[in-house]
Amino acid sequence: IKKYGYQPCVNIGTAGHVDHGKTTLIQALTGSWTSVHSQELKRGITIRVGYSDAAFYKCKSCEEPLGYSTTPKCNNCGKESELSRVVSFVDSPGHESLMANMLSGSALMDGALLLVAANEKVPKPQTKEHLLALQTLGIQQIVVVQNKVDLLPYKEVLANYQDITKFVKGTFAAKSPIIPISAQSGLNIDALIGSIESTIKTPERDEKKDTVMHVLRSFDVNKPGIKLKDIKGGVIGGSLTQGVFKIGDEIEIKPGIINEKKKSYEPLLTEITSLGTAAGIVESVKPGGLVAIGTKLDPSMTRSDSFIGSVIGKPDTLPDNSTELKLEVNLFDVAVGITEDTKVQPIQSGELLRLNIGTAPILGKVTKIKSKNVEIELRRPACIFEGGNVAISRRIDERWRLIGAGIIG
Ligand code: GDP
Ligand code: MG
Repeated sequence: IKKYGYQPCVNIGTAGHVDHGKTTLIQALTGSWTSVHSQELKRGITIRVGYSDAAFYKCKSCEEPLGYSTTPKCNNCGKESELSRVVSFVDSPGHESLMANMLSGSALMDGALLLVAANEKVPKPQTKEHLLALQTLGIQQIVVVQNKVDLLPYKEVLANYQDITKFVKGTFAAKSPIIPISAQSGLNIDALIGSIESTIKTPERDEKKDTVMHVLRSFDVNKPGIKLKDIKGGVIGGSLTQGVFKIGDEIEIKPGIINEKKKSYEPLLTEITSLGTAAGIVESVKPGGLVAIGTKLDPSMTRSDSFIGSVIGKPDTLPDNSTELKLEVNLFDVAVGITEDTKVQPIQSGELLRLNIGTAPILGKVTKIKSKNVEIELRRPACIFEGGNVAISRRIDERWRLIGAGIIG
């Protein structure tokens, strides 16, 4: 058991239109790392959460960006490289129907890769929508990746590069580097890693504060037919934003589970029985990349990501469950759509909105509006932190569209 053994220190998200190569790129960046640790991965706890962690290495002898790689041996000169950073990837689904998942993942992103396929017209709808989502949640450290350059002649790649430059102008990603790559053939991956290492900084975090973990996944790691004595408790995955957890810690999960008799949510208390990162089983975890915690909960409770959006801390340290959300709202001028952009109308009293609060997507009804200040009654309680960013979506033409951002007051 390693203390903090290679725990990833930063979460990097993917963003971009469906089929532009997000998952392929993550596979290209993580393949060697996960295979090195496959034995430990097979122990179960780390599989679902840590599958997409990567280690970046840098060769001291080679000029940048040639010396960057995902292996401890330099691809360029063959000499031994130094470990630069271990990172976690939060892969976003590109399909427009999965925007809620994209937004939940974004809540944990410290930075993001915005993928744009070179062989497609710029921008595609979810290229725009994802960039807007990153902006909404305040994710400023963005590397733009021009992917699939292997599919086109050089001249056309350059023209597409110019189109991307024009598209990002005036957006959050205006100052971002744009790196042409082929995720499939591994072309220019060293330059991309170099760019990630210089653009997406590891945020400063306070390990001394009360621990806060935002949940992105939860699961039952037991195989069907397992003997009762071998059953492992429910496993919950996510990221700590502050504080630390160690094995044996008592934890409180909010909002918890619904008490059918009282028709209200009750926080859950349990104990940490194991801790995992992609690098294996550890004794303690700190803020950074994705981690998994094993608990004494009935594993059927944590099945199929049922705990997504929950917040975990030490007992009596988290904000109370609440269904009242107060926001200072900033609406966009237009909501980006599948085919055309739609002007965003002001928020109406009584209307139903979808809020992404931390990793939790929750529906709520607007109860009060006073200029930018909006009060919302949530359909189910959440553990709400003052000052947090909330993504606001509204139903337009039978789909949820991102219309603005709010700061929790
Ligand atoms: P996602 O929806 O953004 O996650 O896209 P995927 O990673 O699933 O990729 C979509 C398709 O594009 C797959 O068939 C990939 O094999 C292909 N693809 C991804 N990257 C490249 C690339 O660099 N070059 C080429 N030619 N195809 C690619
Ligand atoms: Mg994908």
